[in-house]
Amino acid sequence: MTTTQPIAPHSTFAVLAEVAGRRVRQDDTFGEQNHPDGTGPEVTLTGLSRLAADAAHTARFTTEMARAEDRLTWLHILREEVYEALAEAVPTDLRDELLDVAATAWSGSRPSTAAPPLPTWGEPVDVWPDDEFGGLDFLTGTHEVIHLEQAGVPLFVSDTRLRHRKTLPRAIAPVAYDSGGFTQLQKHGDWDSVPARAYVARVRRYRDEIGHMLWASPQDWMCEDAIIRGGWHGGKWFHGTKLSVARHQFLTVVNAIELRSLAPELPWRLVLQGRTPDDYCRHADLYARFGIDVTAEPLVCVGSVCRLQSTALAGQILRAVRRYGVPRIHGFGFKTLGLIKHHAYIDSADSLAWSDDARRLGHPTRDCPRPHVKNCANHLHYLLSWRAAMAEKLRHRLPEQTALWDEDGGPAAA
Ligand SMILES: [Zn+2]
Repeated sequence: MTTTQPIAPHSTFAVLAEVAGRRVRQDDTFGEQNHPDGTGPEVTLTGLSRLAADAAHTARFTTEMARAEDRLTWLHILREEVYEALAEAVPTDLRDELLDVAATAWSGSRPSTAAPPLPTWGEPVDVWPDDEFGGLDFLTGTHEVIHLEQAGVPLFVSDTRLRHRKTLPRAIAPVAYDSGGFTQLQKHGDWDSVPARAYVARVRRYRDEIGHMLWASPQDWMCEDAIIRGGWHGGKWFHGTKLSVARHQFLTVVNAIELRSLAPELPWRLVLQGRTPDDYCRHADLYARFGIDVTAEPLVCVGSVCRLQSTALAGQILRAVRRYGVPRIHGFGFKTLGLIKHHAYIDSADSLAWSDDARRLGHPTRDCPRPHVKNCANHLHYLLSWRAAMAEKLRHRLPEQTALWDEDGGPAAA
């Protein structure tokens, strides 16, 4: 629960969604446009026969005159902003000026009398199989796309495994999608090579062609030290985003708004990121400032906990998110011990731990149908037997109230 005030009224987000829709239509009509800026103080403005810098100066002067004489209109303000942009050659400053143009154009436009309703998150399909995991919605992660057609259990699959495929499998059980954010940020340090619009188009295709879609992850910014600072960690090279936790949180919110605007009909789930329990609550506050109430979401994902796994801090974070008022929590990427320790604080989880487990074993199991391989890390039989064993462990999971008594001394949640 939060009392944080949104930084902009919902009507602003509705308009931004309209603008996003207009952008999509522009691209559909004209194709992707790549032109030089063509702006700068020395540029001659056609029809005015004067330099852009002079035109900007006159526009500023005319606006000030109109303001002083109490006859200011949106024409004055918008013209000034446009001419200032035309007179700007430095790309970063130009971007700044263009944002002013966009904001001014929106402020000056009449609120639509028939404003579209604020987009809502798509509804998840309700096709959970029997309650094998004591009330936990358990998604088994897999790298093998073919498992979608064969496993018959809820799966968690990354966009990175599907994005280059011409044909897609038909799922026989529920599927949720990972955006592949960890690998993306590990390798590139940003999301620049995966435009939101392209991601949205693919997720639509997964919904239509693979079917049984539960939900999809946004293009979030996890906050692990390795992701932010870069360098070698656990034998892997990380590019490093070199950004702050707060910036990661902000970019995660911006992406959520972008995806929601581009495809309000898809079941996007929000992700909370951070390092400390307070970080996660601050991130929830940040969503609220953008008009998104995490306590009203059907399911909220808690990111960056996979590095913590079975530690007490992971539990403190999950409990803090619960106390904030998030009704249902998905814990990203838990390993076996983390699941056993924290399952009482989450409502949904995904895990690829079976694959690591099979790799560690170092040889195929005795019942392996392909006994000449190195290990069973991608084998369906291993996935299913690991999952069954995990279900056995979690079936009698503790109710949350019982589990809340310890560690950070918080009150057992109401
Ligand atoms: Zn095998």
